[in-house]
Amino acid sequence: MKLLIYGHSFHYEMENLCRLFFHHQKIQVFENCREAQGEIVAITGLEPCTEGQKLSVSLRTPKGFDEKTEILPSGTSEGEIERRMGIALFSLLSAFCGIRPRWGILTGVRPVKLLRSLTGQFGQEEAVRILCEKYLVTPEKAELSRKTMWNEGKILERSRPDSFSLYVSIPFCPTRCSYCSFVSSSVEKSMKLIPEYVDRLAEELRFTGEVVKRCGLRLESVYFGGGTPTTLSPEQMRLLLQTVRDSFDLTYCQEFTVEAGRPDTITREKLEVLREAGVNRISINPQTLNDSVLQEIGRKHTAQETLDAFFLARECGMENINMDLIAGLPSDTLESFRNTLDTLLELDPESITIHTLSLKRSARIYQEEDGTTPEDDGAEAAEMLEYAGKVLPSAGYAPYYLYRQSRMVGNLENTGWSKPGCESPYNVYIMDETHTILACGAGAATKVKDPGSDRLERIFNFKFPYEYISRFHEILERKEKVEQLYGEFADGNVSKI
Ligand code: SF4
Repeated sequence: MKLLIYGHSFHYEMENLCRLFFHHQKIQVFENCREAQGEIVAITGLEPCTEGQKLSVSLRTPKGFDEKTEILPSGTSEGEIERRMGIALFSLLSAFCGIRPRWGILTGVRPVKLLRSLTGQFGQEEAVRILCEKYLVTPEKAELSRKTMWNEGKILERSRPDSFSLYVSIPFCPTRCSYCSFVSSSVEKSMKLIPEYVDRLAEELRFTGEVVKRCGLRLESVYFGGGTPTTLSPEQMRLLLQTVRDSFDLTYCQEFTVEAGRPDTITREKLEVLREAGVNRISINPQTLNDSVLQEIGRKHTAQETLDAFFLARECGMENINMDLIAGLPSDTLESFRNTLDTLLELDPESITIHTLSLKRSARIYQEEDGTTPEDDGAEAAEMLEYAGKVLPSAGYAPYYLYRQSRMVGNLENTGWSKPGCESPYNVYIMDETHTILACGAGAATKVKDPGSDRLERIFNFKFPYEYISRFHEILERKEKVEQLYGEFADGNVSKI
């Protein structure tokens, strides 16, 4: 489709709104342009008039032409103009496509953060009303956001000015799932890099531990993610876990998570290594318990292997297990999703995270479209989430973090549900961006948060393991910036804040 723009600078937001309705089409944006040929053409414009500014949004499609115009008085804020233009475009596209995305005109990844900010200004009841009426969020999604805000608030309160969390990246997986857009090197291709990667990573962890000591920071949570960290051998895992224990003070650490995502990487020996190292939360991710869907998405394991891995983890003493599911997987059905979730509830894990499929361009599956329209998929994925939203609270789970990604099926969301007290603080801290995350390993992004202001500085590590290894000296140089930043925030000593 074509998006024409004149007289304003809201390109990014208008393009994202178009993408809600046309996930898999290229949106061609033309600036300072009012006329173009094409099947579907949206025109968004703003021009001065005697009363102030005239806002016009129109849509030309094979079905015909529709237009919305509005006169905005002088002095209308940029944010308000953008919102009104968004609403006009949303309603035209919604009428044409016959769908109504449940998050309305919100295209950002953190709707709960917006609700928190509105609550701070207007109180909770009014904030929820604004979400529904001014941003066109459905009452169900607004209520989900409200509950999530409430539950995550208790975790956010635990973060202090000197708090930080540690993320350790293991960007390797046994094979690559077809929906994956993550920079995960499959072991088949990069097995030979793992030993050197582990050594460099241990060095970065030790270096980061020294920086933390000099800055006087307090560790709240440790999260090994990926990829699939349990792709490593038991010895490699032991080395990294022990390095964390030796390099950081874990006295106040609330959570030590290792993602053991793929059941085909989990063994008794590895689970024992995790237990011995004090890991108190793991994630075993079925995604679905339907074998034919697993095959379709390139997961080289069966549903039974997931169940076996779960029982083995329990046998090895793992008392806090998270399980991830994905709604909207290709060839999955509502009935199969319900069966999967019902089976998980029988297992009774401490938390269940329900993701919605997000198809980035880099995912293999993206190029393998079978002609099913994303809009159709969105309707079924929405029903899957509705089912989850009913059965999870009845089974004692509450939502505690929520985020959205671009190109999600049906423009839906990912929600972490947990039993009380079994939440992952790391998931809340990384989403809320109010707490420093020191990240080590390839593809890791450190976020240094000034406790006294909104300032958040990012330091990126190299994306690919081979770059990370070959340019490792630059990684340590970049880490030095953490200390420099804390010096700028608070005269070099966090305890003075
Ligand atoms: S396990 Fe996760 S990170 Fe690894 S290939 Fe599959 S989706 Fe990607």
